[in-house]
Amino acid sequence: MADHYETLGVSREATAEEIKKAYRRLARELHPDVNPSEDAAERFKNVTHAYDVLSDPEQRQRYDHGGGQAGMGGFGDIFETFFGGGFGGSGQRGPRSRAERGDDAMIRVDVTLEEVIFGVQRDITVNTAVLCPTCQGSCCQPGTHPVTCDVCGGQGQVQRQVRSLFGNVVTMHPCGSCHGYGTVIEHPCVECAGKGRVRERRTIPVDVPSGIDTGTRLQMRGGGEVGPGGGPNGDLFIEFRVLHHDVFSRDGNDLLCTMQVSMTDAILGTEATLQGLDGEVGVEVAQGTQSGDVITVRGRGIQGLRSTTRGDLKIAVQVNTPTKLSKREQDLVRQLASLRSDEPPHLGEFQQGFFGKLRDRFFRQG
Ligand SMILES: [Zn+2]
Ligand SMILES: [Zn+2]
Repeated sequence: MADHYETLGVSREATAEEIKKAYRRLARELHPDVNPSEDAAERFKNVTHAYDVLSDPEQRQRYDHGGGQAGMGGFGDIFETFFGGGFGGSGQRGPRSRAERGDDAMIRVDVTLEEVIFGVQRDITVNTAVLCPTCQGSCCQPGTHPVTCDVCGGQGQVQRQVRSLFGNVVTMHPCGSCHGYGTVIEHPCVECAGKGRVRERRTIPVDVPSGIDTGTRLQMRGGGEVGPGGGPNGDLFIEFRVLHHDVFSRDGNDLLCTMQVSMTDAILGTEATLQGLDGEVGVEVAQGTQSGDVITVRGRGIQGLRSTTRGDLKIAVQVNTPTKLSKREQDLVRQLASLRSDEPPHLGEFQQGFFGKLRDRFFRQG
């Protein structure tokens, strides 16, 4: 087969507009309704095929790189290109179906951090289109049926002769009487006004997976609106938002929190029981714990998305210095101070870890 560019008489660098122009010029000259010669019909086919390939950026690129090509375009493509109209998709002939795929739907669902740890099953209510219970999507009153359109004889399309600069051209148009369906519904279903579907609030059980984050989307195939005329359902997209929690924040699958520890507990060490998101958590506060120390409890974070392993619970310690001391307490602390030979306040090495890590990893999340 000849090179597509040569067939259309354009250079390999031709723009989409130039290719279209070249095609229109050749089509006018070679269209079988205008030019009855055998040779013209053959050339018209080649020109159309070349145009089909080169007018589609993806196909053109593949062709330029010597790749395979899609099948020949049908006459539907030509009518579309030529008359800018077309209906029912390229190449399709005959009546179109009343059944169409339903629209996709999207809802946003708020979940708590507690629900995210292991995932949860939630009932979600959506306002959606469902199959009409009266006509079951047939669009007709029960006991009646669509009748063949007598304008187009059930073809869904009618021929029209157009007199143009280059002779008479026969074009196909959707039948105005039946809107291209080929049949007419004389008794539309009253409940759905002949649409085959009605709107309804529907409650759907949704498995909220563990480990989701704000912005995570779940696609439920067939969970969207039922199509007109009983067509297949679209999909339902659920976008999650994880609500703010006053105590716990999140770093991936790790849970972060802070723990207030008294000065004496920090000095002497102690054991504590905290209320975690999934029950009690035993924590050991070591002797000499400093403000900013992070205690990691392995496996008490969030269960990963489609995973059985859990992140960690990270607890940042904040040591509280007492502000109100009794006379006796003050005396005891002074005694302690005199027993120790602690250095007076002085400048230390700048600890990026203390300020940077703590602030960046924890408090930014809040
Ligand atoms: Zn109905
Ligand atoms: Zn008709």
